Amino acid sequence: MRISGIGIGRGVAVGVVARMSEPLGEPADVESDADPVEEYRRVERALRATAAELTERAGHADDEGREVLAAQALMAEDPAVIEDIESLIAEGKTAERAVFEAFRTFQRVLEPMGGYMAGRVADLRDVAQRAIARLRGVPMPGVPALDTPFVLVAHDLAPADTAMLDLEKVLAIVTRDGGPTSHTAILARSKGLVAVVGTADSDVLVNGSTVIVDAGAGQVVLDPAEAEIAAARAAGGRVHAVAPSSPGALKDGTRVALLANLGAPDEAADAVSLGAEGVGLLRTEFLYLDARQAPSVDLQRQRYTELLRAFGGKKVVVRVLDAGADKQLRFLGHTPEENPALGRRGIRALREHESVLRDQLSALAQAQNETDADLQVMAPMIADVDETRYFIELGREMGLAKVGITIEVPSCAVLADQVVPLCDFVSIGTNDLTQYTLAADRLLGSVAGYQDPWHPAVLRLVELVGDAGSAAGISVGVCGEAAADPLLAVVFVGLGVTDLSMSPTALAEVRETLAGVTLPEARSRAKAAVHATSAAGARAAAAAVLPRHRSR
Ligand code: PEP
Ligand code: MG
Repeated sequence: MRISGIGIGRGVAVGVVARMSEPLGEPADVESDADPVEEYRRVERALRATAAELTERAGHADDEGREVLAAQALMAEDPAVIEDIESLIAEGKTAERAVFEAFRTFQRVLEPMGGYMAGRVADLRDVAQRAIARLRGVPMPGVPALDTPFVLVAHDLAPADTAMLDLEKVLAIVTRDGGPTSHTAILARSKGLVAVVGTADSDVLVNGSTVIVDAGAGQVVLDPAEAEIAAARAAGGRVHAVAPSSPGALKDGTRVALLANLGAPDEAADAVSLGAEGVGLLRTEFLYLDARQAPSVDLQRQRYTELLRAFGGKKVVVRVLDAGADKQLRFLGHTPEENPALGRRGIRALREHESVLRDQLSALAQAQNETDADLQVMAPMIADVDETRYFIELGREMGLAKVGITIEVPSCAVLADQVVPLCDFVSIGTNDLTQYTLAADRLLGSVAGYQDPWHPAVLRLVELVGDAGSAAGISVGVCGEAAADPLLAVVFVGLGVTDLSMSPTALAEVRETLAGVTLPEARSRAKAAVHATSAAGARAAAAAVLPRHRSR
């Protein structure tokens, strides 16, 4: 049986399925008919076993992990929680419900305190989930801890889970949800993990079955024949292109900077070897997905300096923390939202925690002053002139030489003539710009068909930004995944984009395609695409122009 989805990259992997256990859900609040004394004993046993397991794990963890796990073990046996559970059971609650409610009470006390205390809320929730899983006799939610390598299958996988996957163990990931530009897909791509996302039928993949995950074909083959397995093993898991080192340029010499999207400074060496001329996007939130407290200025300065040094005097664009939606950072607080992509995300969360933003800008300014790199710093999720002014003024006040914004909220693109002149540079985030323009959640496999940056509505917004950038004489980048599509990259250049930033493995192909096109050709293709009526039409129209056009 073959299951289709959206392949991330082109690798192929063969392995045995291990499913991620799903969250347990809230235990029903129903009157218990069990004996309260026996119910309480069950809870005592579950909590004791939970504490013992956490203590055992603390013994193998690193410094930060040990501290957290040991604290969680204490929470599991906290007398105040246990007292609450006992009274709730006496009131007629089930063991599971009593555990859930008692821990929730403490979470609600800590949540508004913010900072370190708010960071403990997730730890308490985790302890409660562990105890409830034991009471129900089901596995703990999360990535399975196995001794042998496996193919991880999940309904969805949070970026924080993806970032922490043990790459020695996880051969590939298959998720039911997730579009091509979800952060999980982006992380998988940057880690060279074989992945197929948005596989509506993946529920048939049960623990222990053998699968081939073929990202290039966007397919998962269940119970493959021996010959197919042999062929897949021969194809191997990781695909890397070899990059020429010439700077990115069109056929007529028009320069187009080809930059790398990175999630951490230690990805710099690979990016350089694949032909990156600098960095077009460092997603700094990826560095702190598992952090419980805001990183200190000094620790941040060290990491940013490491990155700037790796690129010598070249351009490095760093984006300040883009927390929210699927990338929650504990130290920026987290209130559950119905539609988190439309909620307190990016600059909105940072503005509420200005001290965290100031610390990050200060660390970046110090790193800038310690190196000769061309550091450019931008803010995510800027919606209008007010937010643009706020960030640009703050960045300059903190001593940064070049400050700009990401244009990924449609309102900002529509107002390009107002916001662009305020900036030293701008970069278009096509992942979010597409999601918000087409009103299609980039995390939902069911609407992945709308997530097409070729849509003329998206291209017209890019054109507005390109025009405003040319008028203001500043660089206009694209740092969404769309920049890695060679034909679309040409269209972007035709719309006024000057820099393209992408996963480093995509650089070679984009560089080669740009080198075969002149600026008038790129403009003709862009013009054809923006006048199309659909994404498919735009793609076809842009492709059709190439053979006919002659440069002047
Ligand atoms: C984007 O939205 O296109 C972008 C580059 O940012 P992210 O994918 O991190 O949201
Ligand atoms: Mg974005």
